[in-house]
Amino acid sequence: MISIKNVQKIYPSKQGQVKAVDDVNLEISDGEIFGVIGYSGAGKSTLIRMLNGLELPTQGKVVVANNEVSKIKGSQLRKARQEISMIFQHFNLLWSRTVRDNIAFPLEIAGVSKKERLKRVDELIKLVGLEGRENAYPSQLSGGQKQRVGIARALANNPKVLLCDEATSALDPQTTDSILDLLVDINARLGLTIVLITHEMHVIRKICHRVAVMENGKVVEMGPVLDVFKNP
Ligand code: ADP
Ligand code: ADP
Repeated sequence: MISIKNVQKIYPSKQGQVKAVDDVNLEISDGEIFGVIGYSGAGKSTLIRMLNGLELPTQGKVVVANNEVSKIKGSQLRKARQEISMIFQHFNLLWSRTVRDNIAFPLEIAGVSKKERLKRVDELIKLVGLEGRENAYPSQLSGGQKQRVGIARALANNPKVLLCDEATSALDPQTTDSILDLLVDINARLGLTIVLITHEMHVIRKICHRVAVMENGKVVEMGPVLDVFKNP
């Protein structure tokens, strides 16, 4: 499903160059929940952003759901992003649109008819448990509800891969657990592959099948969560 081969990302900077990602190799399977953990600055965000073409690698090859995202551009990349969607720490919702219209937004962009959109949005609202909140604005929602909108929006076009960029880091522990439960449910029901980055061990332990540990741009350990984190 996802193949990351000899990937390097160098950012220019005043002090010289920053090697944000340094020769990373990973293979992630269909239907897997794969976690990347590391301290701030380890390169997690750069790595996950290369999975949907938000960043291009300086070197190496990234293939996600048969899209060579390290190479494609323009309309091809936009099309690929329907299959590789993303949720964010600060939700990135449109503040002047209701829950329903936030979720419908990617469908509008994809050219889905109004009738189909309404039907699909209703399904998504049920899937993420936001019944009754369709006409609320993001400012009227709790953090957890905002992330549910983010998840519904990300799932609108039936993606094959869901990327989660610190998706629970702005939430309290209880809300974090409810969002992680939802991700597990979605993974099981839709067979979606999930890649998440986090600095929280708890998140990895709770839902990931395998984990990569990043330090200074390198993957320093990788394997099943129970093997990598043996001691509770
Ligand atoms: P993490 O997500 O693990 O916190 P990042 O991928 O954000 O790590 O950052 C990895 C390294 O790359 C850090 O040293 C960071 O300062 C640097 N970096 C990230 N984005 C940029 C950028 N756009 N320009 C220059 N340096 C960057
Ligand atoms: P929470 O309390 O759940 O963390 P916030 O209300 O703080 O949610 O908002 C989450 C994110 O949305 C923050 O990054 C914030 O800057 C941004 N945000 C909040 N209000 C607005 C607004 N009116 N327009 C655009 N962005 C906003």
